Amino acid sequence: MPNWRDGRVVLLGDSTWCASPLSGLGTALALRGAAELAAALDAAGVLADPGRLPTALEAFEQAMRPRIASAQQLPPGRVASVAPRTALGIRVNALAMRLLRSRALRPLVRRAMAGTEHGRTPGKVTVTTAAAPAG
Ligand SMILES: Cc1cc2nc3c(=O)[nH]c(=O)nc-3n(C[C@H](O)[C@H](O)[C@H](O)COP(=O)(O)OP(=O)(O)OC[C@H]3O[C@@H](n4cnc5c(N)ncnc54)[C@H](O)[C@@H]3O)c2cc1C
Repeated sequence: MPNWRDGRVVLLGDSTWCASPLSGLGTALALRGAAELAAALDAAGVLADPGRLPTALEAFEQAMRPRIASAQQLPPGRVASVAPRTALGIRVNALAMRLLRSRALRPLVRRAMAGTEHGRTPGKVTVTTAAAPAG
């Protein structure tokens, strides 16, 4: 969606940026979005000063937009590889999946993912909660 927020309302997850189920990243993006939103609210100090909410939401959006743009790009051949149309295609697909999960190829897959937005180690997220009201 072009707009993720309106005033004090902000969306995240599939309702906002739904990547194709074939991306295999929808759950990670929803969780990452929640973490980035919490971090942005905390960093802007919204609990102490609610007027800083627009700053927090802007930071959240800037942190997520590149990841979303990247996740929404399916690599060439992705649809065909997930839904092969021939018996040979199904066999090749199953073999490729087995190879990708193999211990031998694991470092290679890890390195390939590290070059993308999705392979980056998330930053530390610290959330400060408001003190419980007395009484
Ligand atoms: C076939 C398929 C395969 C997928 N495979 C993968 C995969 O391999 N890896 C991966 O990471 N992701 C995968 N995904 C995507 C992943 O499931 C979603 O991206 C993820 O669940 C999005 O989380 P969300 O919290 O944004 O939305 P949802 O998980 O859809 O949660 C939204 C919730 O809101 C509730 N709701 C809706 N309307 C209302 C209302 N009016 N009032 C109250 N509650 C409401 C719904 O019941 C639901 O519980 C796949 C999706 C599909 C369809």
